[in-house]
Amino acid sequence: MSGTRKVLVIGGGIAGPAAAMALQKAGIEAVVYEAHAATADGTGAFLTLATNGVNALRTLGADEPATAAGFATTANTMWSGTGKRLGTAAVSMTLADGTTGYTLKRAELYKALHDQAAGRGIRIEHGKRLVAAEPIRGGVRAKFADGTDAVGDILVGCDGIHSTVRPGIDPNAPAPSYAGLINLGGYARGVRMGADPGTYHMIFGKRAFFGYAVAPDGEVWWFANVPEPAEPARGSLTSISTRQWQQRLTGLFAGDAGPATELIQATGHDLAASPVHTMPRLPTWHTDRMIIIGDAAHAPSPTSGQGASLAIEDAVLLAKCLRDLPTPAQAFTAFEQLRRPRVEQIVKQAARINNNKAATGAARAFRDVMMPVMLPLFVRFVANGKPGKHLYGFRIDWDTPTPPAGA
Ligand SMILES: Cc1cc2nc3c(=O)[nH]c(=O)nc-3n(C[C@H](O)[C@H](O)[C@H](O)COP(=O)(O)OP(=O)(O)OC[C@H]3O[C@@H](n4cnc5c(N)ncnc54)[C@H](O)[C@@H]3O)c2cc1C
Repeated sequence: MSGTRKVLVIGGGIAGPAAAMALQKAGIEAVVYEAHAATADGTGAFLTLATNGVNALRTLGADEPATAAGFATTANTMWSGTGKRLGTAAVSMTLADGTTGYTLKRAELYKALHDQAAGRGIRIEHGKRLVAAEPIRGGVRAKFADGTDAVGDILVGCDGIHSTVRPGIDPNAPAPSYAGLINLGGYARGVRMGADPGTYHMIFGKRAFFGYAVAPDGEVWWFANVPEPAEPARGSLTSISTRQWQQRLTGLFAGDAGPATELIQATGHDLAASPVHTMPRLPTWHTDRMIIIGDAAHAPSPTSGQGASLAIEDAVLLAKCLRDLPTPAQAFTAFEQLRRPRVEQIVKQAARINNNKAATGAARAFRDVMMPVMLPLFVRFVANGKPGKHLYGFRIDWDTPTPPAGA
């Protein structure tokens, strides 16, 4: 046991509440400080919680409330913009015990984890935006924008891709990298689809990428990735109206096979667009008293379908390391050694797929020729072979003590 008694968890998104619950399970008190005044919003987006994420939540006894908010998604069919079926793969590999991946609204996952943590007596303070963190004798002090502060033995930064904790740990840390894509998503009603509920359909269109899945109630959940080589200025996308987005998207998908334009037109709510960022390899994840996990440390592109699941895995493993090793520094070192190879491999794979989505000019022409040949081989290899088991079947053994790094 690291002697850690009180942990300041910064960020109440996905990694934050999961870390607080895992720490509580390890016998360590944690308080969550969230910048937003209410439970963090999910900006309307939805995500897939892969089987490895479900497994990690199961370790915390928190999988059922989360998955109850979504629907099982098991298959992923890829199409070219001309309507050619490129291949089908498991979205997230159904495990031998029947565990599947789920699709759920990001805000619903936030709420489920928040409610679980609060229900276990974990303190979650809202309206606490961290502005600085400093080491003090035997611990760390967090300073918030409202002028208050808090003191703990260690601080865990779960504050997402635009993390404030990250530069506090390493002032030279690289900034998040723009992936050349704008993401939008929505929910369409009243469109009759031939597709089975729980199957994703992904279309590599001529000008942009489109994906959708039919929910059990018939609502169609869709998203679009629009190539945009120049990174939009922060906040600039909010000035584009829903009408303008609908017109632009309809133009981009005109001529592609599939229901993209119909679904976009049948969406009755406002559309929110966001640039896609990833977090490239970070040389430093921790000091002796502070560490970052989740998107703050290693954000894969949404393409991977793994960001939330990796954040939950991080949370569970970090708590286990703190439970088992004598000092926070040793726990952090062991955690990093165990996590880096896995998360960096997933970030790299997702970046490769992103490049295909964002391809323009000659690269796009090459992609369109190669995709029908390579993709079926790739999806079979990743989803149904050894790499798939490694990715989706990953399980943290909570009961076995963590050895020190290098042991
Ligand atoms: C459009 C989109 C689609 C995605 N699709 C998928 C998918 O299909 N599957 C998947 O697994 N992942 C997906 N992701 C990624 C996934 O949402 C993230 O990987 C996941 O949310 C990371 O969790 P986190 O807790 O590390 O960060 P976040 O969920 O971003 O939470 C960070 C929290 O910290 C708070 N915060 C920020 N700064 C401060 C501060 N200074 N002080 C206090 N609090 C602060 C924020 O308000 C927020 O609540 C998608 C992401 C996007 C944008």
